[in-house]
Amino acid sequence: MRFMLATGNRHKVGEFQKILAPLDALPMPAWVELPPEDVESFVDNARGKALGLARALAAGAPAVASRDLFCLADDSGLEVEALGWAPGVTSARYAGVDGPGADAANVARLLREMAGFAGPLARRARFVCAVVAVAPDLTEYAATGHWWGAIATAPRGEGGFGYDPVFVPEGSDLTVAEWPQADKDQASHRALAGRSLLDRLRREGLLDGDQRP
Ligand code: IMP
Repeated sequence: MRFMLATGNRHKVGEFQKILAPLDALPMPAWVELPPEDVESFVDNARGKALGLARALAAGAPAVASRDLFCLADDSGLEVEALGWAPGVTSARYAGVDGPGADAANVARLLREMAGFAGPLARRARFVCAVVAVAPDLTEYAATGHWWGAIATAPRGEGGFGYDPVFVPEGSDLTVAEWPQADKDQASHRALAGRSLLDRLRREGLLDGDQRP
């Protein structure tokens, strides 16, 4: 089995390639246009992207869409308890900014919204990731991962992306942006969702013996 990843985010491609190894995880072709993430749930957004990629490949590159190629998409975001679990599915566009400045603007808005909340309990949050793999016959397999932590009072660290500079995982004093990438790849919401998906595929008998991560 091989995967093709329904995302244009190179950070996610790199993280998924490590999480799914030794299975191959290919980046999608640049000409594929994924449907917008306009649904209210992570899993429905992921399903839309995975099906969008599967249909685009079947129509535009049938030779690529072979029997062993599963299209895999994720939808992820940050949920903060004190904010009624916002920003949630709108995490990527929380500050209404697109492009290279979006991450910094999102972090700045989050810290403003959290100004009245002191201490890790009041600042409790979780990263959520839903993954959906679509088989060549369009059968869907879904899994979800939650990574709990708290929102820091100021950004720290240079690694990762998005809200990593302000997310302090449970059991750590450092933000994810201060973690080595290899540790994030083991612990993250994407890793939890990816491993849960692989367990499901294994139970369904879809992984060959030599492909078991
Ligand atoms: P997606 O591309 O729709 O899944 O958007 C996810 C958004 O949630 C990203 O733009 C980030 O703002 C945030 N996010 C998801 N995963 C992570 C992560 O691992 N670290 C930091 N931010 C993340």
